[in-house]
Amino acid sequence: MYRNARELLGLCNEKNVKISEMVMLDEIESNGLSREEILSKLDEILVIMENASSATLYNPVKTLGGLIGGEGKKMMNYLQQNRMITDQWIVKAMARAFVCSEYNASMGRICAAPTAGSCGIIPAAILTYAEKFKLNREEMIAGLLVASGIGKIISINATVSGAEGGCQAECGSAAAMAAAALTEMSGGTAEQSMHAAAIALKNIMGLICDPIGGLVESPCSKRNASGVVNAMISADIALAGVVSIIPFDEVVEAMKNVGTGMHQDFKETARGGIAITRTALALIEKNK
Ligand code: SF4
Repeated sequence: MYRNARELLGLCNEKNVKISEMVMLDEIESNGLSREEILSKLDEILVIMENASSATLYNPVKTLGGLIGGEGKKMMNYLQQNRMITDQWIVKAMARAFVCSEYNASMGRICAAPTAGSCGIIPAAILTYAEKFKLNREEMIAGLLVASGIGKIISINATVSGAEGGCQAECGSAAAMAAAALTEMSGGTAEQSMHAAAIALKNIMGLICDPIGGLVESPCSKRNASGVVNAMISADIALAGVVSIIPFDEVVEAMKNVGTGMHQDFKETARGGIAITRTALALIEKNK
């Protein structure tokens, strides 16, 4: 039904519906599922996200590589001290993103949104916003639909894989998906959602994928924490009426080109960036 943002916006305007509804109509048509079946699947996904973003909040677990763990708990302890530079919702969102990453790295069940490495950004954004503004289930699921629509556009026209496009493709895509979702959940227009997605993706364009030891732990978990904040500020920027000068479709194309031109050492091979710092190499040696 749609292959890019221009077509999706055109359909939204033509039918006078929000992005979430247009994505729902597209899902019904392309998958042959009923609205009820799709809503039920999305509710299941939401349950997985709720569990993954809270599972280790107070009881950190051992991750496979042992490089991370306990960051979410530290953020919650920090929250209790009430001396945040930002605010409680940003700190809570980061805590949720950290917990998802930790849970993923300990083989917990997460929702790859769009990938396992970037699995904390969308849950942290949607669940924290929902908690702050007391959203109901239906409104949260609408956010998931918007996120999936943006993810579909990126998947068709570029990539969401760190091995193919660097971390900009994973955490950048997740942040773009979350930013668009937050914008609609906040009452923004479909155009504003696209501006938010474009801004979020541009904010980390060029970010390489350089996991220490090839493990999806570090710097991944901190990129999830910063990724959700990227989504939140991008949505606020768009909701304030600031526009992305470059349309989302062109930003996606640019991200693809940057990923294609990126040296292989920076695409999940653990042969560049943070992965080959002295400390990273010593840690891997120690853990052998
Ligand atoms: S650094 Fe690589 S493995 Fe880690 S989150 Fe980013 S893309 Fe995924």
